[in-house]
Amino acid sequence: MKKKKSNLSELMQFAGNHKFLTYSSWILSVISATLALVPFVYIFFIIKEVIEVAPDFSNATHIVFNGWMAVAFALGSIIVYFGALMCSHLSAFRIAGNMRKTTMNHISELPLGFIGEAGSGKVRRIVNESSRATETFLAHQLPDMAGAIATPIGMIIMLFLFDWRFGLISLVPVVVGFLCMFKMAGPKMAEDMKKYNSALEDMNNQAVEYVRGVPVVKTFNQTVHSFKKFQGSIDNYYKFCVSYCKKCRGPMLWFTMLINSAFAFLITLALILAGGEAIEQKVLLNFIFYVIFTPIITTALTKVMYMSENGMIVADALERIHSILDLKPLPEAEKSQKPKDNSVEFDGVSFRYSNAQTDALQGVTFKVNAGQTVAFVGPSGGGKTTVAGLISRFWDALEGSVKIGGVDVKEIRHEDLMNEVAYVFQDSRLLKTSILENVRLSNPNASESEVLEALRKAQCDDIIAKLPNGIHTVIGTKGVYLSGGEQQRIAIARVMLKNAPIIILDEATAFADPENEALVQKAFTELAKDKTVIMIAHRLTTVKNADKIFVLKDGKIEDAGTHNELVKNGSMYAKMWKDYQTSISWKVGGVK
Ligand code: ADP
Repeated sequence: MKKKKSNLSELMQFAGNHKFLTYSSWILSVISATLALVPFVYIFFIIKEVIEVAPDFSNATHIVFNGWMAVAFALGSIIVYFGALMCSHLSAFRIAGNMRKTTMNHISELPLGFIGEAGSGKVRRIVNESSRATETFLAHQLPDMAGAIATPIGMIIMLFLFDWRFGLISLVPVVVGFLCMFKMAGPKMAEDMKKYNSALEDMNNQAVEYVRGVPVVKTFNQTVHSFKKFQGSIDNYYKFCVSYCKKCRGPMLWFTMLINSAFAFLITLALILAGGEAIEQKVLLNFIFYVIFTPIITTALTKVMYMSENGMIVADALERIHSILDLKPLPEAEKSQKPKDNSVEFDGVSFRYSNAQTDALQGVTFKVNAGQTVAFVGPSGGGKTTVAGLISRFWDALEGSVKIGGVDVKEIRHEDLMNEVAYVFQDSRLLKTSILENVRLSNPNASESEVLEALRKAQCDDIIAKLPNGIHTVIGTKGVYLSGGEQQRIAIARVMLKNAPIIILDEATAFADPENEALVQKAFTELAKDKTVIMIAHRLTTVKNADKIFVLKDGKIEDAGTHNELVKNGSMYAKMWKDYQTSISWKVGGVK
C-alpha cells in the first residue's frame, strides 16, 4: 500500500499545475458511483408498490415517476462518469507527455556516451512504453478505483438500511471472497508477477537473439536446436505459467463462485425466516431488494481485484523511467574557458565504462600539436574509440586530464566544446529529410550556396546529380537510396560546414567498392586541410602520411612515431604493417 502511494505521488510530480484534474476525476467518479446506487432504490419502490396494491394494480400511481427517477439517476451517474473520464484523460495525457519531455530533456543533458552504452533501442522503449503504461492507470484505473472504494461503502450503508439480517448474510460471501483473493494477491503474488515478467523478458531477448542469428543458422546449415537458449526460455516460461495458473485456480474458483452466490445465502435466510409458513410481505420485499442489489458487489469486487496488478505495472514503468532520470549529467563549467590553440593533450588519462570490469584506458598520455594529423591504430578493443569519445567529452576521464588548447575539457561549456571539435562517426546517420537539411544540421544559419560548397568539397557532386530534386531530395523517400560510402560523404559535408578546428575521424571499417573509398578519402583530405586531425584508423590505408602514429593496445600507448620510425623499430606496428601489405597483395591476387 505504501508503495502504491509513493507511485502516485511520483506520477503527480509530472502533473505540474494540473493536479486538480486528477483529483476532480476522483471526486466525480465517487459521485458517479454513489448516484449509480440510487436507481436500485427506485426499482425497489416500484416493486414495493406493486406488491402492496396487488391485486388492484390501478392503485399503483407512482410507478412511472419512480421509473423516470431511476432512469434520471442512472443517466446522471453516466454523465458524471464521463466528466470524471474527461478530467482523468486530460491529466493522464499531460502526465505521460510531461514524463516523455522530462526524460528527453534529461537525456539531452546526459553525456553522449550514455546512448551508446544503454543502446538507443532500449532508451526509446523506456521513454515511449513506460510513459504509455502510466496512461491507462491514470486515465481509467485511478478514477475507477475511487469509484470502487465508494461503492462498497455506499453498499454497506444500504445493506443495513433495509433489513440488517439480509444485509449481514449478503456480506458473508463478500468477506470470504476477499479472503480468497488476498490469498492469491498477497506479497507472494507480487513475487510471482516479477518472476513472470522476467521469464517473459528472457523469452523476448532470446527471440531477438534468435532472429538476429538466423543468417548464421542458414549459412552454416544449422537447425533450430542450435538455439537451445531460446527453446529453454520458452520451456521456462511455459512451466512457470502452468504452475502459476494451477496455483491461482483454487482461490480464483472460490472467489468467483462466492461473489456470485449472494442470492443463495439470501434464499436460505428467507426460507429460515419464513419458518415453513407463507413469507411476510415486508420480509419478501426486503428479500427482493437484496436480490436486486447484491450483484453490484460482483462488479465492484472484480475491479478491486485487478487494482494490485495495475499498481505493479506502474511501479515497473516508474522504475524504468528513473533508471534514466537518476543518471547525472556531466557537470558544466560556470564560465567557459577559451582554448589557446587547437592542440589536444591527454595527461595520465584512465577510463572505465560503467558496466565494464576492466579499464578501457590506463594512464594514457600524448600531445597533438595544433594543425597536426595523427592516427591511432592498434587491435580492436585497444581503446581508440574511447580516446576519441573523451576528447568530445562523451564521458569524463576517471583519472588524469583531457585538454584542448591547454584548457581541460571540463572547463569548456558543452556548446563551445562542440564548436571546437567535430566528430565524423563511422556509421554516420542521415535523417529522413532533404540533403540540404541534413547538411545544414551542423550550422543552421548556413546559406544554400555554402551547403553546396561543402557538398562539393566533400566529393558529393555525383550524388546530387543523380538525385531527382538535387539537394532538396528527401532521403528515405521512394527510390532514394544512398550507399554507405555516399552517406559518409554527405556526413563529411555536414562536418565541413561546421568548420570546427579539431576533427576526429572514425574511419569506416569496410567499404563496398573501391571507387567510393577513393572519394571518401579525398573528402577526408579536403576536410583535414588546416585542421588538427585525429584519425581512428581501423585499417592502415591512410595512416602512412600522418605526422604521428600512436599504437594503442589494451588501453595503453604501446608505441608512437612516424610510419617510417615505427616500421624500422620492428614493433607491433611493423608487424601490423607487414600483415596489411600481405592482405593487400591477397586482394590484388583475388582480382586477377
Ligand atoms: P577500439 O576503438 O580500439 O576498438 P574501444 O575504445 O571501442 O576500442 O574499446 C576499448 C575497451 O572498452 C574494449 O575492451 C571494449 O570492450 C570496452 N568498451 C567499449 N565500449 C564499451 C561500452 N559501451 N561498455 C563497456 N565497455 C566498452
